[in-house]
This record gives sequence, structure tokens and C-alpha cells, in this order.
Amino acid sequence: MKQTDTKSLVLLRHHLKHLRLPTIGAECEKVANQAAADNADHLAYLLQLCELELLDREKRAAERRLKAARFPTIKTLETFDFAARPSVNKVLVAELMRCEYIDNRENILLVGNPGTGKSHLATALAAQACAKGYRVRFFRTTELITNLIEARDERTFLRLKTSLAKLDLLVLDELGYVPASKVGAELLFDVISTAYERTSLIVTTNLPFESWTEVLGSERLTGATLDRLTHRCRIIETKGESYRLHDAKARARRTTVKQPDQPVDDASVSR
Ligand code: ADP
Ligand code: MG
Repeated sequence: MKQTDTKSLVLLRHHLKHLRLPTIGAECEKVANQAAADNADHLAYLLQLCELELLDREKRAAERRLKAARFPTIKTLETFDFAARPSVNKVLVAELMRCEYIDNRENILLVGNPGTGKSHLATALAAQACAKGYRVRFFRTTELITNLIEARDERTFLRLKTSLAKLDLLVLDELGYVPASKVGAELLFDVISTAYERTSLIVTTNLPFESWTEVLGSERLTGATLDRLTHRCRIIETKGESYRLHDAKARARRTTVKQPDQPVDDASVSR
């Protein structure tokens, strides 16, 4: 490479950095050599670089959205065993993976006993929404209520409310594990009614509707919350026993079959 080429490259990279085009900066030399070898014209060269930058930019944005959603663990639909949970409508889940429910401001309610895959499905659906460009945030319901109560008298309350209002999809996991205080229930109701017809909600709960009063306290608040939540809502029921228990039992059975002389490992059953 000539010295003038090196100087141009250094200057070019400098300008590209200012223009925030890091992929073009990283790839321009390699792609230029390839374009020269292929006899590609200047426009084809420029087009290829722009495409690389756009692809990378989209990938970086998707990674940022995934990080901002703060999933406790990443779960995908590929690892969800539909055969083990026949009450879950696979066709409906596949339809929801297209994320049209978010454009239609519809909600998803996942109802079932602990360990039946509600959080797994909620996370897989919400991670897909991140990949498709929607702004998502995952909260354990008690965590959101605590955050709201702690921020209530401060400026951070407004900031938290503003950040919630900017979302396309809000996940409220484990609604109903712990009864909310009167203030907590009112703040939660406020979040749900602000989201109504603006932000889609995915709510997971172990409680049937008739028991929601135990968590939210008053009949009036429960009625109003359910009214907003269940208007335009898809319900997925994860019926049956805990997957972990089912999995542990299956493993224990395999152990018994493989090693008939050895006792079953109790630890694997109780895990
Ligand atoms: P829930 O939220 O209903 O209490 P989770 O979604 O947390 O249950 O599931 C408990 C564990 O079992 C998780 O590790 C999850 O990935 C796994 N799990 C649950 N159901 C299934 C399933 N049908 N296929 C694969 N893994 C599952
Ligand atoms: Mg859960």
C-alpha cells in the first residue's frame, strides 16, 4: 500500500468515527480489496459498505433492547417442550411470536401453577418482541411495586413512570405471589390503567381470577384491574404439574431403568 493510501485510510477512519459509522471504518479496506479483485464499480462498493453498516447497527440496537428489557434469564421457544404442556396452544404461541398483538395493544395473560413454564413463555415472547424492534421491560410484579413505592415521593417516580410510558410491551411476572399493600395495589392499578390501550402487557400469575381480590385487597380495585387487563386479552393456561418436578421424575425413572441394582438418587427427585 502506498503512503498516500495509508494517510487517506487514517483520515477516512477518523471521519467515519465522527460520523458514527464504525462498521464501514472496520470493513472499508477489506471490501475495497475485494471490490478491486471483482472489478466492482464504486457504487456497488459503497452499497455493500452501507448494507454492512445497517446490518450491524440493527444487531447492536437489538442487543441494547434485550439488555434494557432486563430479563432475569433468557429463554427461547426452541427450548420449550410443548409436548410436556398440552394445555398450551402451540398455534396461538406461534401467532403471538409475530408480535401483532403489540401493534393491536392486546395483552397476554399466562395462568398456571408454579413451575409450569409461565415465565419461560413470557420471556420467550418478550425477547422476540425485542428482536423485532419493540421496547420491552420485564419486572417481577413485587419488584415494580417496591420501585414505585420507594420512588413515590421523589422525582424518580416521574422518571420511572415516563420510562414505563415509552414501552411497547411491559411484562409483569408473578402477579399474585405476594399480596400487595393498599398503596402497592393502587400503584399497580395505576400502571395497568395507564398501559391500557397504549402499551401491551404480558402478565403471569398462579391465581385464578376469583382469587385476585386476595392480592389487590379491594373488590372495586380488582374489578377495575381485571376489566382493563382482560379487555382484548389472549389467555394461555399452563395446566398440570411443575416441569422441574416432571423432569426430575423422568430423570429418576431413567436412572432406575439404567441401573436396576442401584437405589434412585433422592436428591434428583426433590430438586
Ligand atoms: P413458572 O413461571 O410457571 O413458575 P418457569 O417458566 O419459571 O415456571 O419454569 C420453571 C423451569 O422449568 C424453568 O427453568 C423453565 O425453563 C422450565 N420449563 C417449564 N416448562 C417447560 C417446558 N414446557 N419445556 C421446557 N422447559 C420448561
Ligand atoms: Mg415464574
